[in-house]
Amino acid sequence: MRQEELVFVGICDLAGLVRGKGFPAVELDARLRQGVGLTGSNIMMSAFGPILATPFGTTGDLVMMPDRTARVQVPFDEGAAEHFYLADLQELDGTPWSCCPRDFLRRALIALEAEAGLVVHSAFEQEFVYSGIEDRPGATYALDAFRRQGIFGESLIGALRAAGVTPDSFLPEYAPRQFEVTVKPAIGLRAADDAVICREMIRSVAERLGHRALLAPVLKPDGVGSGTHIHFSLWDKDGKPASRDASAPYGIAPRVSPFVAGVLHHLPALAAITAPSVASYFRLQPDRWAPVWAFLGRQDRGAALRVAPVFPGAEAKADAQFNVEYRVADATACPYLALGAIIHAGLDGIRGGMRLPAELPGFWDMTEAARAEAGIEQLPRSLAEALDRLEATDVARAWFGPEFFAAYLQFKRSEIAALEGLEPSDICDRYAAIY
Ligand code: GLU
Ligand code: MG
Repeated sequence: MRQEELVFVGICDLAGLVRGKGFPAVELDARLRQGVGLTGSNIMMSAFGPILATPFGTTGDLVMMPDRTARVQVPFDEGAAEHFYLADLQELDGTPWSCCPRDFLRRALIALEAEAGLVVHSAFEQEFVYSGIEDRPGATYALDAFRRQGIFGESLIGALRAAGVTPDSFLPEYAPRQFEVTVKPAIGLRAADDAVICREMIRSVAERLGHRALLAPVLKPDGVGSGTHIHFSLWDKDGKPASRDASAPYGIAPRVSPFVAGVLHHLPALAAITAPSVASYFRLQPDRWAPVWAFLGRQDRGAALRVAPVFPGAEAKADAQFNVEYRVADATACPYLALGAIIHAGLDGIRGGMRLPAELPGFWDMTEAARAEAGIEQLPRSLAEALDRLEATDVARAWFGPEFFAAYLQFKRSEIAALEGLEPSDICDRYAAIY
């Protein structure tokens, strides 16, 4: 059978899924200049497939313009290579489309650099369940589980590196058959591209081995979830790390603490963007190392924002290594929207001169009343609640722009409506089938 090489161009949409179109590789040069057509409602494809609600109807043409820096070409022993580009969504005249997720992040990065002279370095950690390994009791973080995944881990690390993403670690995680892959931090937009590519490589390698990777927030309503933890630090324009001051509260430099305070302040609204599915809220439950309270903690895996440790022997690089981990995210979030929202919120903190709360001696020893007195809120308990918080956040409307803000809220509310009446376990199954 004669075969001809194809290239795919795609965008990561509001459901956090990559969708797009393929074309013969011989036309690549022209496509890199002209892009590939799409329509507005394409970005309103629900996680479950059909378009449930859209402000764009059937009209309008857009261009997916492939970014040459976001190219993936990974050969595999059997089957076609992975060859795709991530793209920006543009109007026909080449201006960014108002609802382009990648541009949402780009606008945040540009504003942060222009107003505060700061650049973001970040890395997304991805947890997931691998179907190609049987569950054995007690295999949590176990060498046994690490061994029994066979060549999945090494194939994934190889695929990531070939895809231009620098791998950092691969580990067996807490839940049955759960693993995690982490990658090195990248600058600006590239970190979100890396996150999208990383998820696709996880799925691709699992599928090529005849299995599946399940990135859904939880597989059972009372199970341990899979998070996407986003580590970030701020650097000045000359490439010097700016986030750490060991003598300051939380070890966070005064120049950067208003940014972190902004993220903390907006956390309940940000949840609608970073934990944006109905199932996300089955993950955000007590006693699962997933956050429930909107607080900042030093080296506390129960915190929504965790000041990550600096490891011994790394003092010389401590300033560069220092980072804050945002834990209220999962794989139903689009990485461009998630990172963009964190940066928009942080910049709001800088603009407003927001201050971090005093360091708490022992959050877990505090009563709920003491937490309330310290101004610590619970994170939203459902997507509906998170969306209401987002809608009530006036500055968030400006981060998105009016058209995108309305479209996003409509999109996510239609996802809630589509699941109405289903049992929590059925809801988990619906997401597991897709993510
Ligand atoms: N699986 C946990 C979550 O849902 C996190 C475990 C960890 O700290 O690595 O976020
Ligand atoms: Mg983990």
